[in-house]
Amino acid sequence: MSRRVSRQVVIGDVVMGGGAPIVVQSMTNTDTADVRATARQVEALARAGSELVRITVNTPEAAAQVARIREQLDAGGCAVPLVGDFHYNGHKLLTQYPDCARALAKYRINPGNVGKGAKRDEQFAMMIDCALRYGKPVRIGVNWGSLDPELLARMMDENARRSQPLEAEEVMREAVIRSALESARQAEEWGLAAGRIVISCKMSQVQDLIAVYRSLAQRCDYALHLGLTEAGMGSKGIVASTAALAVLLQEGIGDTIRVSLTPDPGGDRTKEVQVAQEILQTMGLRAFTPMVSACPGCGRTTSTVFQDLAKKIETYLREQMPVWREHYPGVENMRVAVMGCVVNGPGESKHADIGISLPGTGEVPVAPVYVEGQKTVTLKGERIAEEFQAIVEDYVKSKYRKTVAIKAL
Ligand code: SF4
Repeated sequence: MSRRVSRQVVIGDVVMGGGAPIVVQSMTNTDTADVRATARQVEALARAGSELVRITVNTPEAAAQVARIREQLDAGGCAVPLVGDFHYNGHKLLTQYPDCARALAKYRINPGNVGKGAKRDEQFAMMIDCALRYGKPVRIGVNWGSLDPELLARMMDENARRSQPLEAEEVMREAVIRSALESARQAEEWGLAAGRIVISCKMSQVQDLIAVYRSLAQRCDYALHLGLTEAGMGSKGIVASTAALAVLLQEGIGDTIRVSLTPDPGGDRTKEVQVAQEILQTMGLRAFTPMVSACPGCGRTTSTVFQDLAKKIETYLREQMPVWREHYPGVENMRVAVMGCVVNGPGESKHADIGISLPGTGEVPVAPVYVEGQKTVTLKGERIAEEFQAIVEDYVKSKYRKTVAIKAL
């Protein structure tokens, strides 16, 4: 699969675009003025694998705490770059809180919300000026829900005067694209290099998003941030985001992704990071954590032993990754199979790096384990899960141990 050629943008120590691996990012939902809660959530997102974390900077109280959040993260050894999300008053917050402007690694600017009428250009210019002063990249992030109303009205009027007017939907898509490209061009005119600009045009409908990004990809070479906005809750949010992003990623479009899921009340915010990683990994674009292949189960698996083991192993692998990533390079490519019965179990297990074929209903209660295609041991009894986990751990330690080059004396 060939990737679209885009400009490279450096955000803190993260490289985006220009053929670099597609960056996973996420956003907090804490009150940024609450330093402890925000730092804690940023850390959790970073630990889950988010390579950039965006925080809302919406009030003077929030802006005043951004540098403290950065300090707290640094003190805890969390170096993930922070992106500030600005709407309406970003020009004031960035100029009045220089520590905030310095502590952020990138500014997200929504051109639909930077100001109205004559003030729009002046306020947008103030934000670009801050980016220049502090050497920061920006994301020109258009969202169709907050599209510049003056631009849209102008384009609708122009369309009405055409001999064959376009559908309103087409005009709206074009307005979203034009808002992003014209704002980026303005930022360049004011001195911001193209290699410091990332573009996004977020839509809430899958077909709109695909159409807009295909067009954007042809019309510019800025790094592109992909995401379906307001994707929704639960499986609907995951499916809609995956459907949209997969089509574009398959066409080589996209340098960074965010999956905007609405968590359940009190739900785990890191789910959006996990889904983003799984989209990239299942498409073969990046590897983050060992993947577990599990059969869906059927009438041959009438107990929950098989589901329990698949879940346990998947959770165990994910939880080990923060440590394994450091000590066992390449472990993220490991493939594990947990299968429910003898029909496909041995075959699928042999194709994985390590696999187990559990006994289906009515089968002899034994579970053969395969390592790199060879049957190594047959487990039985009550402790199959624990014993299989220990075998996986031993395999990781022996196969992926970091080899340290020893200098010849
Ligand atoms: S491997 Fe066995 S348990 Fe799993 S879906 Fe196939 S037949 Fe059913």
